[in-house]
Amino acid sequence: MKGDPAQTGFQTRAIHAGQPPDAATGAVTVPIYQTSTYAQHAVGESFGGYEYARTANPTRSALESCIASLEDGRHGLAFASGMSAIATLCYLLRPGDHVVLGDDVYGGAYRFFARVLSEYGISFTLADLTDAESAAAAIRPETRMLWLETPTNPLLKSIDIAATAALAHRNGAWLAVDNTFASPYLQRPLRLGADFVLHSSTKYLGGHSDVVGGLLVLNDSDIADKVAFFRNAVGGVPGPMDCFLVLRGIKTLAVRMREHGRNAKRIADFLRCHPAVARTYYPGLPDDPGHTVSRKNFASGAAVSRPDLESAIDEAGFGGMVSFLLKDAATAIAMVARTRLFTLAESLGGVESLIEHPGAMTHAGLAGSPIEIDPALVRLSVGIEDSDDQIFDLAQALVS
Ligand code: PLP
Repeated sequence: MKGDPAQTGFQTRAIHAGQPPDAATGAVTVPIYQTSTYAQHAVGESFGGYEYARTANPTRSALESCIASLEDGRHGLAFASGMSAIATLCYLLRPGDHVVLGDDVYGGAYRFFARVLSEYGISFTLADLTDAESAAAAIRPETRMLWLETPTNPLLKSIDIAATAALAHRNGAWLAVDNTFASPYLQRPLRLGADFVLHSSTKYLGGHSDVVGGLLVLNDSDIADKVAFFRNAVGGVPGPMDCFLVLRGIKTLAVRMREHGRNAKRIADFLRCHPAVARTYYPGLPDDPGHTVSRKNFASGAAVSRPDLESAIDEAGFGGMVSFLLKDAATAIAMVARTRLFTLAESLGGVESLIEHPGAMTHAGLAGSPIEIDPALVRLSVGIEDSDDQIFDLAQALVS
């Protein structure tokens, strides 16, 4: 591509940022540099800055440039998984530090704070970050970081990123935002004041349920260097093939997200009128408690700078995740086993529709914790199949 990709629109950057044609061959697609090491001209004189593939790899560098551009940030870092990104970033914390953790986070993130970091003298408080007073009350003098997902997993609550960033900074703390559910297409936390944005690229960025990966984007160069040092020292790096798959997925992120959002909104409308459904959670429903906050957050994404901001937000959609409550645990467990198009599986964000029971699957680690999931809850990752087929499948599974 000619010109500076940084000056172009989101879809153009998704396809071109960090991905000029290969200098050696002209290959239009970034090659999979499947190598562990690189020849050097002389001691300390590399060919192109690459020495050993744990430290850096050209396929990985392309992915890192691309995600930094999409998140409107300066530095991108790729990891072997979303959890590896989370864990490596947390090497910034020291014994005695305290973290305020949103009370509806991915079960694996909670497990990491509760069962790993707590063993190293790093404490945390769970807080309802949708509520400004609860968020402020959770902060202590030793609070170093606030950590949130929005929309949250699995209750799709919406947290005001700009307000939480301001609260963190007033108290000398960082704000980390896990942007896995929304993706940079819908919201860009760094624009709203967050210090760190993380992804499980296993999900919407990869988009095809064929890769596990994690990404981190930040603006502060000193901290970026520190985290890159931690990553190299600890070693949680993705392989080049995995980076290639995430890069390829990202090329279609915008079109997929619009389609996920369209299908999910139709399903949320269907579920909220269904007699077997006690409650539907979807931030795209106008009467959802987080709808207004989601619109505020999503004004930083695809809709940013559009003169028709509100209609641009609606056009981009509210993502593909929908949760709903049935009568009780037994009904929920039986229902998730009856779908045919929706595959009963953990994970999310792929082109295919998935259904799961968070209480017994993705969030089983929260059992007995203060944030245990209601066992009557079902979570959908709405794919991009034909919407009529998705609704037909859910309708037949809801009839017991
Ligand atoms: N963040 C969120 C919101 C997730 O849903 C997940 C996994 O489901 C993770 C982080 C962890 O990512 P990974 O499974 O790639 O380690």
